[in-house]
Amino acid sequence: MIQETALLLKKYFGFDSFRPLQAEVIGRVIEKKDSLALMPTGGGKSVCYQLPALCMKGTAIVVSPLIALMKDQVNALTANGIPAVALNSMMPEYARQTLRQRCIEGQYKLLYISPEGLLNELDGLLSRMEISLVAIDEAHCISRWGHDFRPEYARLSVLKEYFPHLPVLALTATADKVTRLDIINQLKLNDPELFVSSFDRPNLSLTVRRGLEKREKIAAIVSFIRLRKGQSGILYCMKRADTEALALHLRENAVKAAAYHAGLSPDERERAQDDFTNDRIDVVCATVAFGMGIDKSNVRWVIHYNMPGNIENYYQEIGRAGRDGLKSDTMLFYSIGDLVVLRSFASESGQNDVNIEKLNRMQLYCETDVCRRRILLNYFGEEAGNDCGNCDVCLDPPQRFDGSVLVQKALSAILRTGERVGMNMLIDILRASGKVELLRQGYDKLKTYGAGRDLPFKVWREYIYQMLQLGYIEIDYAGGQTLKVTALGRKALFGEAKAVLAAYREPDVAGFAKKEKKERGAPRHKSKQPIRIVETGSPEKTLSDSLRQLRLRIAQQEKTPAYIIFSDAALEDMVQKKPLTLEAFAGIRGVGEVKLEKYGDVFVALIRHVLKA
Ligand code: ADP
Ligand code: ZN
Repeated sequence: MIQETALLLKKYFGFDSFRPLQAEVIGRVIEKKDSLALMPTGGGKSVCYQLPALCMKGTAIVVSPLIALMKDQVNALTANGIPAVALNSMMPEYARQTLRQRCIEGQYKLLYISPEGLLNELDGLLSRMEISLVAIDEAHCISRWGHDFRPEYARLSVLKEYFPHLPVLALTATADKVTRLDIINQLKLNDPELFVSSFDRPNLSLTVRRGLEKREKIAAIVSFIRLRKGQSGILYCMKRADTEALALHLRENAVKAAAYHAGLSPDERERAQDDFTNDRIDVVCATVAFGMGIDKSNVRWVIHYNMPGNIENYYQEIGRAGRDGLKSDTMLFYSIGDLVVLRSFASESGQNDVNIEKLNRMQLYCETDVCRRRILLNYFGEEAGNDCGNCDVCLDPPQRFDGSVLVQKALSAILRTGERVGMNMLIDILRASGKVELLRQGYDKLKTYGAGRDLPFKVWREYIYQMLQLGYIEIDYAGGQTLKVTALGRKALFGEAKAVLAAYREPDVAGFAKKEKKERGAPRHKSKQPIRIVETGSPEKTLSDSLRQLRLRIAQQEKTPAYIIFSDAALEDMVQKKPLTLEAFAGIRGVGEVKLEKYGDVFVALIRHVLKA
């Protein structure tokens, strides 16, 4: 059976091997047994029910919460020659009627439907079709414990009453232990097997930058994007106004960008999403309202302009990058300003304690100086055996020095003001800035005034962040964000404990580029995907650009997103293998029978042409 499914995987999807747990889940569904599969975003959940749908008699019913997601999946299936359709409430009744008729005739291997749709059709259409299996995507929506509860999902518990013998496969990318149980119980799964694949996404690089001022943040973002010309990326912001200001700023810098937030009209939102999906724009500056309906496989980076409120959201948001498994970058900016805002959100929320605790964990992640991936995996209950080699801490480990004197200067200054100053004023005192407000308070008379004038402002800022992280000081959020010296801080101040700091380093505004090159010589990256930088002007770069252009032209002709024609991973494989015959082209990742037949000739001709020139 496994062999047979592996053949179908190549024939229809063009993949040579299964991702972790795919084969196991597929086997179980084909045996008509129930399962719950937990896989990270990009883990390859869809194949787990699409492939059984191909081998089994009848039509697979796929419950999905969003029309955009269904549309995307149906597009991708159709492009691979698999008959599939979505029945949704936006269609006119006569179109739905025709579609129902075709379903009854058994013309489709998969039928996508919303949970409401499914409930409406239980006694009608569904009772008259031959059904092979039921897949429930985003199954965490069934649970009140999850972060995305949808009441319509809760009513899916009737499924088993109607179809006691059909195999049900529930799938999700986020479910803690309580939610898992809830899914199993509510769906009344019969002796279900639980599949949990690793949540590690080794192809995503992780970087956190702290304490930058707005102007510095924006400069860092612009240069990051310039290095990734023509690549798709998402820039998440906390405030709607920021999404608009940043999109405008990027457009002024010749980046094709649009804003997306819940305050825009549905038309405007749809246009932004559609332009992004179809590569008419490269960057979306968005609030968290953006993302649920995004299945775009070639998002190459995600930046958080502000810190997210918890690790679940953060992981889900960065997870939108690199679904195709290719190397993708993520960067998070974090500041005390964000913490202050998030803290007030959390304490105003109904679940005060839980949310503050989640925020604390997020803050710890940002402030860590051990491998960030270890922290993430640990948070999701997995153990990481090694440092990842693909986060900023691993790539650029901190250089430590005895910072006791610096710490003492700062702590003493805080105490001498009566613990009445925030971070900026403290630095101004240490550096003897002479600012009006400072003089008005008489801080220029303090003994520590100017005690740290040898260090620039940004260096002090970095060290004060480290003192917070080390627990020498804390922020009094209720007291105007003033700094307070802790008991541990007093020990450091009186020389009872040595304070070790990590040396300040000028941030590499260009982002990752230099490090990636360094990494080519000494690959430490665990991902199976080799890290490849295509040098500008090289034959590979020319080939890569030409392939992209061809893909875009075909996509425009067929009025479908470019990644549906071929994923970035497929193009990358072509650049590496340079197939000059149809036979060789058939071996490319993502080339199944239909795509070989449809696009083989033009792509091979282009590759020959470019390589000859
Ligand atoms: P999920 O729903 O878990 O987020 P998808 O089903 O959308 O993930 O799959 C993510 C990407 O991985 C898609 O581009 C898909 O084509 C690709 N993919 C899935 N299975 C495999 C496989 N066995 N080999 C290579 N690529 C795969
Ligand atoms: Zn690491």
